[in-house]
Amino acid sequence: MTTKCRFCGTNLQHVFCNLGMSPVSNAYLKQEQLQHEEPFYPLCAYVCQSCYLVQLQAFQNSQSIFTDYAYFSSYSDTWLEHAKAYTEYMIERFKFNSSHHIVEIASNDGYLLQHFKTRDIPVLGIEPAENVAKVAKSNGIPSLIKFFGQKTAIELIRKNQQADLLIGNNVLAHVPDLNDFVKGLKILLKPEGIITMEFPHLLQLMKKNQFDTIHHEHFSYFSLLTVEKVFAQHGLILFDVEEISTHGGSLRIFAKHQENSNQPILESVNILKQYELQRGLADLPTYLGFSEKVKKTKRQLLDFLITAKRTEQSIVGYGAPAKGNTLLNYCGIRRDFIDYTVDRSPHKQGLFLPGTHIPIYSPNNIKKTKPNYLLILPWNIKDEIIKQMAFIRTWGGKFVIPIPQIEVLP
Ligand SMILES: [Zn+2]
Repeated sequence: MTTKCRFCGTNLQHVFCNLGMSPVSNAYLKQEQLQHEEPFYPLCAYVCQSCYLVQLQAFQNSQSIFTDYAYFSSYSDTWLEHAKAYTEYMIERFKFNSSHHIVEIASNDGYLLQHFKTRDIPVLGIEPAENVAKVAKSNGIPSLIKFFGQKTAIELIRKNQQADLLIGNNVLAHVPDLNDFVKGLKILLKPEGIITMEFPHLLQLMKKNQFDTIHHEHFSYFSLLTVEKVFAQHGLILFDVEEISTHGGSLRIFAKHQENSNQPILESVNILKQYELQRGLADLPTYLGFSEKVKKTKRQLLDFLITAKRTEQSIVGYGAPAKGNTLLNYCGIRRDFIDYTVDRSPHKQGLFLPGTHIPIYSPNNIKKTKPNYLLILPWNIKDEIIKQMAFIRTWGGKFVIPIPQIEVLP
């Protein structure tokens, strides 16, 4: 079967990283589902030899992934603070006020737009997951329950809803039809409007060996070099870029219409592009070398777990993030190694991880069973977790960080 590049249409011939067959990472299971058949899909990322977009094929239609999405942004403290800081920064820098119109794509439960709204700036959220959009609406955030693309953009223009600021945080990577989405941005943006998008930075994924951030709902993995090409193709120019720490290292890009001469193009764009070139992100062999690093990490993690079990040590997981599911399924780690995992979200407690069927309990369980090791799956917030769980040291418990390579901390 030939697969074409989601952006430029080139036939994809090169594997970036093959993580085998894996269930969809947010498909947590109830007890009664454990006896049933569970769909597994190939989790194989390709790199396009023409535009260097790293990408997965879309196996599930987005409808079934997003219409009843279990993730509510409002449940993560770090993420809420990030959203608030962003809105303050944007208002300060670009002087948004009540005469402007701000549109956010994948606006979730309105956790970000609420900060613009309290400053009397008109907002509109676009959110495909109905259950989540309803929460936003009940909090007074106008929300349109739709996927975003050209069609939705045209609809909004007819309703006079063109945007002075178009926001997309963690949506660009999740879009199956990338060109249709970016065309939609071009259509919906006012002549002097600004777009900001945030997404995990491919350079960081490669540098820090974050292969576990590859999962089925995350279709595209961008470098600045590639995202710039995608936007340029649709008449949008990047005029600034910032490296931010969310999700293990992300980019925030600032874009405008090609025709808009108001915003000068800042040096930051060129500096980061030069850095990516230096790191080989425009050379195919750089991408082809990544697979071996991933296999090595798997062997090291399994070595550690096997040795620990041989010496009758107990291991418990912390967290039930998408990245944990990728890691555990790829490495074949089930209850033979991990007794259970814990999560602060009451929505996940009592469920089981997809594929590996590891049960998810409340963090209180850790005090009861006193494990020797706590394997931290959401390594991006490891400092926060180590602080919260410092009490495991009272019985000699140790923390295990699996990525970028296994590390055991007393
Ligand atoms: Zn391509």
